[in-house]
Amino acid sequence: MEEVQDNYYSRQLLLEGWNQSAISDLRVLVVGLGAIGNETVKNLCMLGVKRISGLDFDVVEASNLSRCLMFNKTHVENKVFKADAVQEFVKNRFPHVEFTSFNCKVEDFDFEKNYFDVILCCLDNLSSRLHVNANAYSKSVIIDSGIFGFNGKIQVVGLTGPCIECVTTDSDYEKMWEKFSCSGETLQIIEEKVPSLITLASIVSGLQVQAMINYSILKNKDSYAVFYNGMQNSFMKLQTTLKKGCPVHVEEKPLDSC
Ligand SMILES: [Zn+2]
Repeated sequence: MEEVQDNYYSRQLLLEGWNQSAISDLRVLVVGLGAIGNETVKNLCMLGVKRISGLDFDVVEASNLSRCLMFNKTHVENKVFKADAVQEFVKNRFPHVEFTSFNCKVEDFDFEKNYFDVILCCLDNLSSRLHVNANAYSKSVIIDSGIFGFNGKIQVVGLTGPCIECVTTDSDYEKMWEKFSCSGETLQIIEEKVPSLITLASIVSGLQVQAMINYSILKNKDSYAVFYNGMQNSFMKLQTTLKKGCPVHVEEKPLDSC
């Protein structure tokens, strides 16, 4: 058993500049435990992150099973919360990992009380992304991810610099508000089902967790987004920029103003 433990990370320790403790000491929150979230938790566990929290309000459904390694039929039959199902899997397969499950809505989560070095967003809707951004920006590094059909993307939001709101366009807002009634409550009748494929989830999760490694070990603090086109099997990387009037940066002054 000792030999297994000693050799567990031996291949990644061979990487130039690798720092295992910088990875294992991270406190990471994964928001959204669907297709990307399952892959991301698996990647974190296998890298050796010791303290992982998972946040999701949903229960496991049959449609999740084709894309989510950690869910099974019994979870569907018993309507188990996704966060609890992930916790059960992690406990069995990665007993060295301390996994905390939060069965609550993103909007009800206390970002003040719970501190994380990194928040990995694996969500399927913009309003929840913007909520995480508004509540955790400058406190935690946020790495957002998303897939739609054959397309995927990640965005790295450092402790300073451009945020998720900065890259949100007017048409994104329009689509988001279409989902809400005048009182701000979600209209159930137009709840969208997002097309999704395990290969896309796996690729995007790999990009997301690699960005966490780059930020934590390689000290690459750039703010950027990577777009993946599955039909072409091609990537595009873009630097993100601060949006004038972004409400999240309202306090920030240009560097030359002081
Ligand atoms: Zn911003």
